[in-house]
Amino acid sequence: MLDLMSHPAVTISARGAERLRHGHPWIYRSDIRESSAEPGDLVRVMSERGRPLGSGFWSSESQISLRFLGQEDVAGERGERAMLTARIQTAINFRQALGIDATAWRAVNGESDRLPGLIADVYGEGAGRVVVMQTLTQAMDRRIEMVGEVLTQLLAPAGVLARNDQKVRRLEGLDESVQVVSGEVPDAIDVREGPVSYSVDVRLGQKTGLFLDQRENHEAAARYARGRGLDAFTYNGGFALRMAPVCSSVVALDSSAAAVAATRANAERNGVTNIDAQEGNAFDVLRELEIARERFDTIVLDPPAFAKNKAALERAAAGYKEINLRALKILAPGGCLMTCTCSYHMDEALFHQVLEEAAADAHATVTIVEKRSQARDHPILLNVPETHYLKCFVLRKLA
Ligand code: SAH
Repeated sequence: MLDLMSHPAVTISARGAERLRHGHPWIYRSDIRESSAEPGDLVRVMSERGRPLGSGFWSSESQISLRFLGQEDVAGERGERAMLTARIQTAINFRQALGIDATAWRAVNGESDRLPGLIADVYGEGAGRVVVMQTLTQAMDRRIEMVGEVLTQLLAPAGVLARNDQKVRRLEGLDESVQVVSGEVPDAIDVREGPVSYSVDVRLGQKTGLFLDQRENHEAAARYARGRGLDAFTYNGGFALRMAPVCSSVVALDSSAAAVAATRANAERNGVTNIDAQEGNAFDVLRELEIARERFDTIVLDPPAFAKNKAALERAAAGYKEINLRALKILAPGGCLMTCTCSYHMDEALFHQVLEEAAADAHATVTIVEKRSQARDHPILLNVPETHYLKCFVLRKLA
């Protein structure tokens, strides 16, 4: 009886079961037929005919009521710990096999590691390394201690920090907080990404401190960059610092004063003297540069997600079009534009269309040199389009 209580069942509709069969692990509220689960429970998933389908994590608040974990029957604290340990270990092994040239990397990327709701990033090396985690669902949040223990066991960090100041947690009825889960977490951690060294503030920095998903695009920027460069949404200098050694000069722009200060500090730290970090709104500055007839040979646009939901897509598309249009105008012929969107809702086809319209309005002849995505330690789950959010086009302006 007790065992059944701690391992409740959820019955899903035939449509929900069909979704699982197609490899999508989310079951929405409208496909739940019956549930005896409490918030964050690990549940046994049943078909309408009473056939056991596997295990999942339950949420009482989110529209995504159930996140499927697989066909295996996981039960009890020991079973859960074994499952989490095995999956986190697999995720870490995969990253270690990638040969990532950096000391900051994503160890666990939620659904694409079969660990829905869990993000874990590693910052630093050896005994000084720190794990920054996010528990974004009721189920993962309830197991925060257990996950912290497993990460500590597998990665032996100095400390584990939970950066749970994420708005998406509200969809799960969870509050926003930042807390040290175990050990000690310094305010500043030294990391290296390729040849660039950073001081990272894992408590206050954006995301978990760095935009790790852009690592490989930073590398690509170093291959394309030359002449006069512009990095219009620089944060702490991610693209600008890679472009600077191969450019004559780089203007690095951000609307956040803290980001501009961080970019300057990182430039100094790396002995880079040709970055001009400025505070400003990219929409205004791009327009001013166009009016002033300034020209750049390499431009990077990596704005924040303009479309946070489907309803905001039209406005967002107008925003993406505007910055790309201005950038193409101030790009010198033969120059290269690396342009990104991290809005899931702005899919590759739509982004392509926006860029096409921007090029037409800029009277620019443009080729697509490369289509890129998020770094390999942020893999996309084939059947879950929601896990493909970052698109990065490398464009070349012919005339
Ligand atoms: N390119 C960075 C990440 C950029 S994140 C990297 O690779 O690490 C987006 C950045 O855009 C944030 O730092 C944010 O402060 C800044 N930003 C947001 N709106 C802006 C605007 N209108 N103009 C300039 N910067 C803006």
